[in-house]
Amino acid sequence: MTQLAIHNPATGALIATVPVDTAQTVGAKALAARAAQTNWQRTPVAARKHCIVRFRAAIVDELDALAAIMTAETGKPIRMSRNELNGLLGRIDFFLESVDRATATETVFDQDGMTEQIEHAPLGVVANISAWNYPWFVGGNVFIPALLTGNAVLYKPSEYATMTGLAIARLLRGAGIPDQVFTVLVGGAEVGAALIEQRIDGLFFTGSHGTGVRIAQALAPRLIKLQLELGGKDPTYVCDDADPRLAAESLADGAMYNTGQSCCSVERIYVHEKIHDAFVEAFVESVRGFTVGDPTSDDTYIGAITRAAQLDVLDAQVADARAKGARLLLGGHRLPGPGNWYAPTVFADVTHEMDLMREESFGPMIGIQKVRNDDVALQLMNDTRYGLTAGVYTPDEVRARSVLAHVHSGSVYWNCCDRVSPRLPWSGYGDSGIGLTLSTYGIQAFTRPKAWHLRRT
Ligand code: NAD
Repeated sequence: MTQLAIHNPATGALIATVPVDTAQTVGAKALAARAAQTNWQRTPVAARKHCIVRFRAAIVDELDALAAIMTAETGKPIRMSRNELNGLLGRIDFFLESVDRATATETVFDQDGMTEQIEHAPLGVVANISAWNYPWFVGGNVFIPALLTGNAVLYKPSEYATMTGLAIARLLRGAGIPDQVFTVLVGGAEVGAALIEQRIDGLFFTGSHGTGVRIAQALAPRLIKLQLELGGKDPTYVCDDADPRLAAESLADGAMYNTGQSCCSVERIYVHEKIHDAFVEAFVESVRGFTVGDPTSDDTYIGAITRAAQLDVLDAQVADARAKGARLLLGGHRLPGPGNWYAPTVFADVTHEMDLMREESFGPMIGIQKVRNDDVALQLMNDTRYGLTAGVYTPDEVRARSVLAHVHSGSVYWNCCDRVSPRLPWSGYGDSGIGLTLSTYGIQAFTRPKAWHLRRT
């Protein structure tokens, strides 16, 4: 059987080798999931919830070790690995509290012996092809509500977060979820491709736009439920009445947290001309304050670039921006290895002619553009094929609301950024994807509304 070699992106060291699934093992696992799903659906929801409660407790028990695994295989700063796991606990609590309400059978008509009900029946066997940048969050957004609502899950973690995926499977098994009800599939694109060929009832994907489109094309003739949570090029506008220093501190964090490798990282900043220079100065100062280095150190804020290939994307965006007249204020180059490192990079005087303002950077890099007024800012914010999140910084709620109401984006932020809440739906416009996770809608996403017509006579 082929082995997957797992390297630490911060050091280049080989940290593990794990056997990869084959087309045959993927097929066998899919058949076993199908066979196991009916019993899981029949298991009372209280018992399913009990398994997830035990899973949550196991995460708490092993939190430091799980954070260390994620940091070793992704280069995520250890503080952020712990934050992700702690954040997941809140998401689990939301799912546990909300699943009954979200999936209760509704009686919508009851008269003259005729009753009409809507049941939220599980989809059946669902596949989850996941990303590496927040493996617990983006995986958990899918497999936790999917399991709670009675589905069997075939889970393919990213090849860059395999050890985390295996840890998730181990903890779920320990919590009482039968092996075939949650099955992990190890490997990269080929294993993902083999998975979508199986008889599945839903495909929930998190990853890049390019892969999402390929999966949608492959599934087109199959007419199964498809959700795609894809990339973004998320804009923020800083108005002239905002405090430039406070906005800069908040947005430097929003742009560089997780080494800029977040789907909802701030990727474009527009600043009103009246406070532009003060903002830029404060922004650069904030970014200079970030400690770059060993992801296992508690002091580190900027870690490694998880995928070596992304270094070429960042280099190309820097070269393109410089050639087109952008002003480089910080960084703009790789840092010496071993491992994959990029200096936090800040550009001013950028335009929408530059890839930096059009294509996802997915690294510690940002472009700042001066704007004349709110209308120009809004027009530039919407000048994108993506639409995951967008924000406005101003003390004036009416002004913020009037801009945000017209931004084409799944989530909008007033005086905050790079934020996800389990209580709110997570979705994107345009090339940021289709479907949603989180909120009660993101629980119902794993069910189909089944119509019951009941005549009592
Ligand atoms: P990716 O598209 O390279 O890989 C995602 C997953 O797809 C991996 O598990 C990979 O093995 C699998 N895959 C690759 N080719 C495949 C194929 N042909 N068939 C089936 N599966 C295949 O993405 P990535 O690098 O893991 O993740 C980064 C991207 O994810 C960024 O664009 C980021 O913005 C996006 N993302 C979005 C969200 C969101 O909620 N919208 C959250 C996290 C990440």
